[in-house]
Amino acid sequence: MITAKNIHKYFETPSGTLHALKDVSLTVKPAEVVVVIGPSGSGKSTFLRCLNRLEYADAGSIVIDGVNILDPKCAINAVRAEVGMVFQSFNLFPHITVLENITMAQISVRKTRKAEADKISMELLEKVGLSQKAAAYPDQLSGGQQQRVAIARSLAMSPKVLLFDEPTSALDPEMVGEVLDVMQDLAKEGMTMVVVTHEMGFAREVADRVVFMDDGQIQEEGKPEHFFTNPQNERTKLFLKQIL
Ligand code: ADP
Ligand code: MG
Repeated sequence: MITAKNIHKYFETPSGTLHALKDVSLTVKPAEVVVVIGPSGSGKSTFLRCLNRLEYADAGSIVIDGVNILDPKCAINAVRAEVGMVFQSFNLFPHITVLENITMAQISVRKTRKAEADKISMELLEKVGLSQKAAAYPDQLSGGQQQRVAIARSLAMSPKVLLFDEPTSALDPEMVGEVLDVMQDLAKEGMTMVVVTHEMGFAREVADRVVFMDDGQIQEEGKPEHFFTNPQNERTKLFLKQIL
């Protein structure tokens, strides 16, 4: 579903050129859940952002479901519709209702008729347990509820892949579980997911594969049962010691 090969990304900064991604390659199969972990600044967000072209990779190739997304002819809206992204800060539009947040892109990007978009959106709200909040405005919801709406909004595009960048990091602890539960349901239903998270319980239980990034590179990857019990790389060992 995702084949990223030899990705490099550079940022120009006041103190010079920063090599943020150094030859990163990752393959994700359909319905696979890959959890990406690693210290702050290791390039996790930059890598995810390259996968839906929020950042344009400077070198390498990214093919998603057969589409070369780095092809200049590849329309950016098409990429964004197929590759959904859920952010740490939910980024809902504050001035429209929960339902409208979910219908908006269906109508404007997918060209779905309003009645149909409303129906799909209500089903998605049901799925994330928030159908009673359709007419509410985002600031009337808790953080956990807002993030579940953001997930429903991504799902409304019927993406082929969903990327999550620390989806629970901005939440009060008691709301983390409800968001992880929704993500686990999606995984069970066969959604292809790449998830950057510090929630190691989720990584152990839900991930098919765990990837450890440090210093702009993938240092190690493996099945969670091997990765957590028998890490090979010294940096992985040190990182796990710090967080577990
Ligand atoms: P992570 O998500 O693992 O914390 P990031 O991908 O956000 O790491 O950042 C990787 C490196 O790239 C960091 O050194 C960060 O400061 C730098 N970086 C990220 N985005 C930009 C940008 N737009 N401009 C300059 N530097 C950036
Ligand atoms: Mg990040």
